[in-house]
Amino acid sequence: MKEEILGVSVNTENYDELIPKVFENIEAGKKSLIVAINPEKLMKAKEDPELKALLNRAEFQIPDGIGVILASKLKKGQIRSRVTGIDMMDRVVQEAAARGKRIFLYGAKPGVAAEAAAKLQVMYPNIQIAGVQHGYEKDVQVVLDTINQAKPDILFVAMGSPKQEQWIEQHRDQLHPIVFQGVGGSFDVLAG
Ligand code: UDP
Repeated sequence: MKEEILGVSVNTENYDELIPKVFENIEAGKKSLIVAINPEKLMKAKEDPELKALLNRAEFQIPDGIGVILASKLKKGQIRSRVTGIDMMDRVVQEAAARGKRIFLYGAKPGVAAEAAAKLQVMYPNIQIAGVQHGYEKDVQVVLDTINQAKPDILFVAMGSPKQEQWIEQHRDQLHPIVFQGVGGSFDVLAG
């Protein structure tokens, strides 16, 4: 279910309810974008109608940020718990490992995505890492080819917001992965 917070649709479900929906889409081949909604993004969207429309077009908008929960409570809405971008990524990776789905990490400084992938491989030995690509390659075609040739099911993009969401929207038709999530600084956090 979705609820509107400052003109932006936000999912009301928790992790356990969202993960099956995300993987239903993967199994059905239905391309989906997961965006994390926090007060900072809501403020940017308020000033930028194009960004607001982009966020509203996403298949999943997760309530990342206590301000979103508070806003929902104030309007007697249904959102009760935070679903953070990094925890959602963790849950998606865990489920991908269980289902044999392939993930690709795109973004952050050279070396960081590979380090994050190595950490995930230790945390989830069954995870299939299709590939990694740093976030400073200027040639978009190189990036698209690298991702597509690796045949991932899920693409995590860590380039900061809203740059990562705009990049995904601009290229999702040319990309083979089915689920896309913008994860901000998560690769840096994972790499440690
Ligand atoms: N980044 C990138 N390419 C760019 C600009 C940024 O890969 O052209 C990466 C940067 O190295 C960092 C991440 O994007 O890993 C941005 O993290 P930040 O914490 O700023 O994002 P937020 O979570 O605040 O959206």
